[in-house]
Amino acid sequence: AKENGRGTYRFYRTALTDAANTRLALEAKLRRGLEREEMVLHFQPLIGIGDRKLVGVEALLRWQDPTDGLVPPDRFIPLAEETGLIVPLGDWVLTTACRQLKAWRDDGIMIDMMAVNLSPRQFQLPDIAERIRDVLAETGLPPHCLEIEITESALMEQAEATLTKLAALKALGIRLAIDDFGTGYSSLAYLKRFPIDKLKVDKSFIADIPSNLADMEITAAIIGLAQNLNLEVLAEGVETTAQLDFLRGKGCDTAQGYLFARPSSAEDLIRTLVEGRAA
Ligand code: C2E
Ligand code: CA
Ligand code: CA
Ligand code: CA
Repeated sequence: AKENGRGTYRFYRTALTDAANTRLALEAKLRRGLEREEMVLHFQPLIGIGDRKLVGVEALLRWQDPTDGLVPPDRFIPLAEETGLIVPLGDWVLTTACRQLKAWRDDGIMIDMMAVNLSPRQFQLPDIAERIRDVLAETGLPPHCLEIEITESALMEQAEATLTKLAALKALGIRLAIDDFGTGYSSLAYLKRFPIDKLKVDKSFIADIPSNLADMEITAAIIGLAQNLNLEVLAEGVETTAQLDFLRGKGCDTAQGYLFARPSSAEDLIRTLVEGRAA
């Protein structure tokens, strides 16, 4: 039994060490990747449901790893969040996204809005409003052209402190959206008091429309809630015309998803926009 116990201990210790080493290696690699400018932004159109017009784009982070290729954010953002690397990474995303939209607008490509994801840890920074103000000043992007997306769960964690923080952000003149709406636990009392502009219905509710009646009810309820609170509402993950027809019927303002466009590089986005206009 003693032998057995020691063997078991050794097994667990090895497994833990391996996991820790993998994590450390990935962290070092990510840090290096940021320094070596291996990060890239892709952009996905946000579309008006009524007129199919482009209302803006969302910046989505990718890591162009020299050995692994294009790494999606779900594979490294959680680690960046845990280690605090999300702070420099998030600053890079904000600056790069704002600079890109400013450059497009200076070239006559009048996209109205750039949406940028803010991680919970960034949102908690005491000076986040100053950081965003500095990025706007540095890039020259008008504040109303920037929309910050914060997840529902990040906002509801400390709702009173959130209220103050959101007010400071709103005072910059930027737009605020609640991301992944419906997956957290919103207090309606707070939702009413938050100075937000938009709810983004989480794509998990859209995926099984029109076969899942419960998802259709929830989506319709969120759209109704947004309308009653005078907020814009966007449906994420729209892949089919059946989903689009349902959303239009419920009065949803805007949508985002593969039905319209996948996230793409800046060059590919502009190429399709220009071709679309010419056609
Ligand atoms: P999100 O903010 O909810 O972004 C939407 C995700 O849905 C994106 O995944 C997008 O590619 C994907 N998507 C868009 N249309 C469709 C569709 O029709 N069907 C399906 N199945 N998916 C669709 P992506 O780019 O892999 O990003 C995943 C998550 O990573 C994002 O979810 C966001 O939470 C996070 N993320 C991405 N970029 C950043 C960033 O710059 N900063 C932070 N903090 N998080 C980011
Ligand atoms: Ca988002
Ligand atoms: Ca989302
Ligand atoms: Ca998400």
